[in-house]
Amino acid sequence: MSIDKKIQDIRKTLPENVKLVVVSKHQPISRIEEAYQTGERVFGENRVQELIDKYQILPKDIEWHMIGHLQTNKVKYVAPFVSLIHAVDSLKLLKEIDKQAKKNSRIIDCLLQFHIATENTKFGLSLVESEELLSSDDYKLLHNIRIVGVMGMATNTRNDNQVANEFSNLNNVFLSLKKKYFNSEESFKEISIGMSNDYHIAIENNSTIIRVGSKIFNNAI
Ligand SMILES: *Cc1c(COP(=O)(O)O)cnc(C)c1O
Repeated sequence: MSIDKKIQDIRKTLPENVKLVVVSKHQPISRIEEAYQTGERVFGENRVQELIDKYQILPKDIEWHMIGHLQTNKVKYVAPFVSLIHAVDSLKLLKEIDKQAKKNSRIIDCLLQFHIATENTKFGLSLVESEELLSSDDYKLLHNIRIVGVMGMATNTRNDNQVANEFSNLNNVFLSLKKKYFNSEESFKEISIGMSNDYHIAIENNSTIIRVGSKIFNNAI
């Protein structure tokens, strides 16, 4: 099946308010161009070097999302152009994003990543940790970042109920942060959940951003 057809299949099932991030990691430029030609403009990468290389080569109307774990010392390379950083999981990282955003006269949108899976290999904050971050004096001094929502990765399992539960936990985190810290901020509205194997569960659990890679690119003719 062509990339075009696969994207159409995914888009058919998406509610209007859900944004598709085409995860182009490991994909050659030609494949990404194919997706671009079908009209896709939002692409996600999880490695800084790959993100920069692709940003430089591909059309400038692409919205690039950094979806993977971001090291503090690499923030400066993506700060000039990145549209959304999905996986912020520490105050230290947030401070560095703010610093580099300021240097570039930008405000960079970020999502707080939460640990919702049972696997202990995945990154992310707990609710308590996020509340410490959001109520700290240091956070209040950051004016060049904007936290626009939350992100999470469910356990890699075929148990749909478990995945749905994990997504629902993240919904609760979102709602409680919204109420406590972002009540007056309309921009705090994103829930980035759902990948190739679980985006159908994610959209039933209030996802506003899905990140799909292999379902679009694998085995495409
Ligand atoms: C690779 C990746 C995805 C996409 O995963 P697929 O299963 O290929 O759709 C989504 N989110 C993150 C953070 C990733 O690293």
